[in-house]
Amino acid sequence: MDNNPFLNAQQQIDDAAKYSDCDSEIIKVLKEPQRVIEVSIPIEMDNGKVEIFKGYRSQHNNYRGPYKGGIRYHPGVNVDEVKALSAWMTFKCATVDIPFGGGKGGVIVDPHKLSEHELKHLTQGYIDKIFDLIGPEKDIPAPDVYTNAQTMAWIMDEYSHIARVHSPAVVTGKPLENEGSLGRDTATAQGAAYVLYEYLQTVEKKLENTSVAIQGFGNAGAHLAKILYDSGFKIIAVSDSKGAIFSTDGLDPRAIEEHKEKTGSVKNFKGTKNIPADDILTLKVDVLVPAALENVITNKNATKIKAGCILEVANGPTTPEADEILEKKKIDIIPDILANAGGVTVSYFEWVQNLSRFYWSAEEVDSKLKSKMESAFSDIHNFAKKKKITYRQAAFALAINRIGKAVKNRGILN
Ligand code: GLU
Repeated sequence: MDNNPFLNAQQQIDDAAKYSDCDSEIIKVLKEPQRVIEVSIPIEMDNGKVEIFKGYRSQHNNYRGPYKGGIRYHPGVNVDEVKALSAWMTFKCATVDIPFGGGKGGVIVDPHKLSEHELKHLTQGYIDKIFDLIGPEKDIPAPDVYTNAQTMAWIMDEYSHIARVHSPAVVTGKPLENEGSLGRDTATAQGAAYVLYEYLQTVEKKLENTSVAIQGFGNAGAHLAKILYDSGFKIIAVSDSKGAIFSTDGLDPRAIEEHKEKTGSVKNFKGTKNIPADDILTLKVDVLVPAALENVITNKNATKIKAGCILEVANGPTTPEADEILEKKKIDIIPDILANAGGVTVSYFEWVQNLSRFYWSAEEVDSKLKSKMESAFSDIHNFAKKKKITYRQAAFALAINRIGKAVKNRGILN
């Protein structure tokens, strides 16, 4: 139970529903995706052999706007994971009050084992299979784990090719040359940093000498390390899928990034100590940042966590059982649907720019992102304090109110 992300997402909705104003009949609707499809994608590999890849798209809810959410390429993708991720997107978009619902896609593949040419064909094949379900007013994909701006450019091209229209707004996270938005590549990390600054100023009343450990050194984790380092935080440990490094003196994330590019991992970086990857979660730090996959903080390790607070940059890193343990230990969790909402927020800005064919400066994107993240944090903080509940319960309850009202006003139930 603890490891099924979809059951965990449903439990989070139930846990928060009692603090919302939403009718229990509507809660039933919010717990299930509206549509889930499975596709198989045959690819002629570079060696001439055919391989079949399995893919999914889950469309959780579109009452507040088109389905929105990334596409993940990972060997661990499965239908429950995609369903959970799509549900979290619905609540995330409502948390930062952007007019989208939630969706998510995934293909079961280890993209590191495919050539560029094979990956392009896989992306084209996947879009071909889900073409009827997506579109600028229907469902708008974006990057997620192991997909990037290049993947999004292929998606835009394939969709535009089949539809015989130029359609940049069908996907976000595109390269700048293909009508992407300034600030989208760093948006998840930047949004998380804005929320963290607000939290530390409001709750801890200080920013100085904050120590941070980051589990996951991919797009979000590495960018966040750089942003926090530049703001004077001390990054004392980082990890990737191969291992973790630790130094009480602090790490320079740019040097680590260079090292990772050369060697394929953060491990064995001079002047630091290699530690087992899981040990990063139990270090004594001010801020622990899970920035990789779901289910890393569980009932097995939650009792050992010594961090001051947890900033969930990954989706679903903490299971409901771990949540309870951490609540008892009075460790605040800044939940994923708030902490990592900067990515989809700038995706929304990209979509608006695509539809209006008018492009914003980096300053404009950044100031709009900052105000979205700060006002979402302040709503959630105030609600959590008023009701004496966790930030996750507050974020979900406020999101449920927004979505529930949209459902009701549309006359979908009653
Ligand atoms: N994959 C990101 C997320 O989980 C971004 C989604 C988007 O931009 O649509 O929030």
